[in-house]
Parts: sequence; C-alpha cells; structure tokens
Amino acid sequence: MGAQCGQCGVPKMIGKTHVWRDGCIVDNASGLANFCIYEVFNHNTFVEEMGKHIGFTLDPIIYNATVHASYNVIRNMLEPHPVLARLALSAPFYRLAERQICGIFKAIGAGSIELCEHSKCAHARARIADPFNLTQCLAITAGALQAIDGTRYSYEMVKEGDRAEVDFVPLPAETAREETYERLGITGFTPQRLPAAAPFNSCPKCGVPKVVGELLSFDLPHGVITKRDGGGRVILGGVASFNAMFRELEKELGDSVDHISSEIEKESTRRNLADAGLAGKAWDEAELRDHLALYGTGMLQAMEQDGDELSLEVANVYVPSLVAGRLAGIWENWHQEESAYDFSLENNALSMTIHPKT
Ligand SMILES: [Zn+2]
Repeated sequence: MGAQCGQCGVPKMIGKTHVWRDGCIVDNASGLANFCIYEVFNHNTFVEEMGKHIGFTLDPIIYNATVHASYNVIRNMLEPHPVLARLALSAPFYRLAERQICGIFKAIGAGSIELCEHSKCAHARARIADPFNLTQCLAITAGALQAIDGTRYSYEMVKEGDRAEVDFVPLPAETAREETYERLGITGFTPQRLPAAAPFNSCPKCGVPKVVGELLSFDLPHGVITKRDGGGRVILGGVASFNAMFRELEKELGDSVDHISSEIEKESTRRNLADAGLAGKAWDEAELRDHLALYGTGMLQAMEQDGDELSLEVANVYVPSLVAGRLAGIWENWHQEESAYDFSLENNALSMTIHPKT
C-alpha cells in the first residue's frame, strides 16, 4: 500500500501534514492543534449520555460543529498551496481534490466516504461505509463540499444499511446564515512551545512518533483505525469541533457541562482500561506524560502526591473536561476506588487535584 508508511503503517498523509509536539497533534501548515486520538466508544457514549442530560438529541449540535471543523481542516490543507488549490478546485481537476479529501477521511478513521457524483454548487451523492458515527460523517462530507465549492449543503438519506447513500443539496438561501451555525464557528488553538517537552522517537521513514504505529493499526481502505491492544476503534478527532460543541452545550447546561462531561469521560476511561486488562495499573509521571501527549490531549508539566491527594498540571489543553475526566478515570482504575476531583483551566493550562471520595 503506497499510501501507508512501509515501516510503521501510519498513513503517509498524516506524517506529511501533522507533527506531534508540545502535547498536541499539530497541523504543519497552520500551526494549530488539529487532532486528538479519541475512542469511538467514548465519543458515542458521550453523545448518548449528554443527550439524556439535556433532554434532546445532540445531533444538530455535533452536525454544525463538525461541518465547521471539516471545512476548516480541508481549507487549511489547500490554502498554503494556492497553485495546487486553484488547479484542484477548478473543473475537471477538482475530482482529484475530492479523491484526496476522501483519502483524508479514511486516514483519520472516519470510515469510507466516496463522492460518486458532484455537480458543483448543485448536488452531490456520497456512499458511506463503516462510519464511526453516521451524523458526523454526513457533517464532514458537507463541510468538505463547502470547502470545495463554497456552498452550504443539507442532506437527504437515499439508502440506509451497511452502505448508506446520501444526497447533498444546497441549503435554501434564507437558512444560509443560521444563528447556531454562525455561533459554532471554529476558534483555532495554537499550542504554546514548551522547551522542556521531550520529543518522541520518530519513525525514520515518515517522522511520526514510533509509538503511534505501535498503538494503532490503520485499515486505510475501510477508513478504520483500531488499537492493536484490545481492538477498540479510535478516530483522529478534530479538537476544534469538540471545543465548538462544548461552547454550545454550555449554553444549554451552564457551568455544569464541565462536570457532567468529565464524569461521562471518566466512566468510559475506566471501562476501556478494565477491558484492556489493565485494572489496577499504576502510572509514573513520564508514562502519563507520554500517554497524554501521544493522544494529543496536552503536556503533563507536574504530578505531585501530597498525602492522599494527587495534583496534576497539564499545559496545552483545549478540551479540559474531557482531559480531566480521562485523568480521573485513570486514577480510579489505578486505585480501584471512587474519586473526588476538582479542575480549572487558565491559558489552556489544566490544574487538577484528585483524592479518594469520602
Ligand atoms: Zn512511519
């Protein structure tokens, strides 16, 4: 497979466009933190549990947030190369751009999304197989189409089942500036340079940290990424779309959104560690730092035990409640008991304390 690194198996497209640094997975061209490795189980559990809390489905929120994120990811990849973009986006060459974009979706583990027809600004049809989440896949397709021809699309399901077939049609002009959509506009995050941060050993062929290929197996033709240990499916999730989704949930739930979402993430993390046969696993500082950085969730700066309380400082955190929930889940799995925890965020630095629940 020419599209994957012969040495570590990571899609070449990822190594060419992204770098693991300062606790984040950063887009080379824009310098923005772009992805984090995220379990599909956690994602779908989050959507379901959060939906119960707010009393309606999260689908419209994640759809709008993901359209924005997809649009931005694709534009970021095309804009630094104006000649390529001009060629790629002008008929008939834009088919090449579309093929490339479908390749990007596969590389991030979204599933197989094929654009089988596209009349610019008028109509498109996509076939989607193995979606990590169907709503999200529809959204990333709509966002990519918008990046190509500037049109906002809605979708109509033509055929469901193993292979969904979906028509994309332009949104009527009056909905074009819908308020929710505007609100969910992406705010990028440029991670701070951390001089003390130890880099990973890189694959000599593609430059991606060796541990990425050791952790993950990429089935590129199907667009499916799984953990080598235990086989759980993951995606390279867009951190900006998580951030947009949280801003929107905050409008519904106020401050309690942080606590609710960290609790959901904590339970998923505990479940994943137990399923991987890691119940009771202890962590030292270096191991936890590497783990967080590998997943693109921030850079551990300090870890201190004082009596029965553990304090953690993590820099370059963009979605704090998910990182806090993950850390609480790791702690509970480690000590095999319930925790109580507090966390706050300042300048994208997460401060957290965890102790046994009394
Ligand atoms: Zn490699």
